[in-house]
Amino acid sequence: MNLELSEEQEAARRLAADFVAREVAPYATAWDRAEEVDRGLVKKLGDVGFLGLTLPEEYGGSGGDHLAYCLVTEELGRGDSSVRGIVSVSLGLVAKTVATWGDEEQKRTWLPRLASGDAVGCFGLTEPGTGSDAGSLTTRAVRDGDAYVIDGAKTFITNGTWADVVLLFARTGGPGHKGVSAFLVPADAPGLTRRAIHGKLGLRGQATAELVLEGVRVPASAMLGPEGKGFSVAMSALAKGRMSVAAGCVGIAQAALDAAVRYAGERAQFGKPIAAYQLVQELISDIAVDVDAARLLTWRVADLIDRGQDFATAASKAKLYASEAAVRCANSALQVFGGYGYIDEYPVGKLLRDARVMTLYEGTSQIQKLIIGRALTGVSAF
Ligand code: FAD
Repeated sequence: MNLELSEEQEAARRLAADFVAREVAPYATAWDRAEEVDRGLVKKLGDVGFLGLTLPEEYGGSGGDHLAYCLVTEELGRGDSSVRGIVSVSLGLVAKTVATWGDEEQKRTWLPRLASGDAVGCFGLTEPGTGSDAGSLTTRAVRDGDAYVIDGAKTFITNGTWADVVLLFARTGGPGHKGVSAFLVPADAPGLTRRAIHGKLGLRGQATAELVLEGVRVPASAMLGPEGKGFSVAMSALAKGRMSVAAGCVGIAQAALDAAVRYAGERAQFGKPIAAYQLVQELISDIAVDVDAARLLTWRVADLIDRGQDFATAASKAKLYASEAAVRCANSALQVFGGYGYIDEYPVGKLLRDARVMTLYEGTSQIQKLIIGRALTGVSAF
């Protein structure tokens, strides 16, 4: 793998860094306190091209590669993980999945709107009773003439209150993951209600919601991919999604490093900047090694995808390592800040709170280990 960035990749990274400096960083603390990112930001993310970065140009995307996507995602994660999540879900989990599995009409209906930010997507897999064991979900879609009628509930859905379209997973057949199908459900469909989930530890600016579906009627043409293949649709989306989460974690870890280095140079105790103490340098150098390791694991996934190779296990390794590293790095940075790290006028407390969920969603750290273990041993230990 060539670790030197191409001109296009470097331009994408610079564009994202400028965007974050102008449109995200100045507001991140206020959005965190208000528990809401400014909704107008979605259109700006679309206008600058981030919501269609890896989509084909014929559907309003810019046809960028996955390494460019990682670079943009890292910068967004460095600025505000709540903003990073909007893009990772609407583009990474929803639009990319429509581009991969959708028929021509589904692509023409949704991709240009998702790429421009005129529409937002959300990914409805988790239910109140089924998280890690997503294949046993109970939301049901029953065929009725040329339509399906859907009943059930979804929870923890990122972009849930904002979304215009839900990529929804529902049971159309018997038990187990072979009975699951995927649907594109307009969020304003009669019978679909949503409730914002408040009080999150981190990602407080993100519009996380519970969705309830009562007799929601969609045409049969709303099914994405073949009937009974919904679990494969979900898993293919999540495998790429894990790269995006990992890239966001690199951003958190890099932000923790930058903040710790800056503060250690400014803060003096016992007559010297705290940067002069070996134990403080140990905290900082451990963060720096984690940043590099997480970034390289993440770039490898992008490289595998861009070369058309198998990437799912590499994505689980990157997500596992980068998410645990982001928590470690933010925690160490907070230690460098001492008591000031504990109040939100300084950035590191938010980094730690935002990092914490990364080891939980899109497959917990335990689930990533089971995926890696299954690939190595050939034995499923789920
Ligand atoms: P559980 O599955 O109940 O797990 C509880 C614990 O048991 C964990 O430690 C887990 O690792 C462990 N465990 C479970 N099974 C095993 C096993 N076989 N072996 C060892 N340990 C095991 N979901 C969506 O569909 N769309 C979204 O957009 C979305 N966004 C989210 C945003 C946030 C802020 C949060 C918090 C969650 C989001 N989720 C979303 C849901 C997320 O993916 C789930 O929370 C996650 O998959 C874990 O499921 P669970 O919370 O039900 O935990």
